[in-house]
Amino acid sequence: MPSITEEMIKRVKETRAKTERVFDGNFLHVDRDTITTASGLTRTREFIRHPGASVIVALFDDQSVLLEFQWRQPCERAFWELPAGKLDPKEEPAVCARRELKEETGYEAEHWYYLGRIHNAIGYSDEHLEFFLATGLKAGDRHLDEGECLEVFRVSFKELLEMALNGEITDVKTLVGVFWLEKYLKGAICPQAC
Ligand SMILES: [Mg+2]
Repeated sequence: MPSITEEMIKRVKETRAKTERVFDGNFLHVDRDTITTASGLTRTREFIRHPGASVIVALFDDQSVLLEFQWRQPCERAFWELPAGKLDPKEEPAVCARRELKEETGYEAEHWYYLGRIHNAIGYSDEHLEFFLATGLKAGDRHLDEGECLEVFRVSFKELLEMALNGEITDVKTLVGVFWLEKYLKGAICPQAC
């Protein structure tokens, strides 16, 4: 793999000349940047500013995993998903992960490990997701946000893998979580405790 050099960056870099906020929502903001390309052309780039989120692979001793079933209005259908939630302002991703797991599923975990980061929509958003593995799970009461309706299920790793492979799971963060979980269960990665 080539290592990235200053020269490589210079050949692809876009330089912002102007930025304007074209939509200021409760949660999402849309910006339009006027940029100069590396080849000297002027272009505009429109994208969504997103605070980022944490995703939790909640793994039981029998290798089953927590999955949520939730309505997603942009696609007007329900999806199977790993538990996840947006970062509150200035919130640490590891804190967000613990909070979201408790709020959405009622579970608390004895052990937490950091799996990694993805940028899931780089063509039109700065959104990034931080992945955590949670083990030593203990059930408790959940505290859903008002208006939040989601179901929680426990599925075996075998079922989860089948769902990922047969197209029942199409949510990107969930597919990436399955990828990392498979590596973890095979002993191919050794995530750091956090
Ligand atoms: Mg959520």
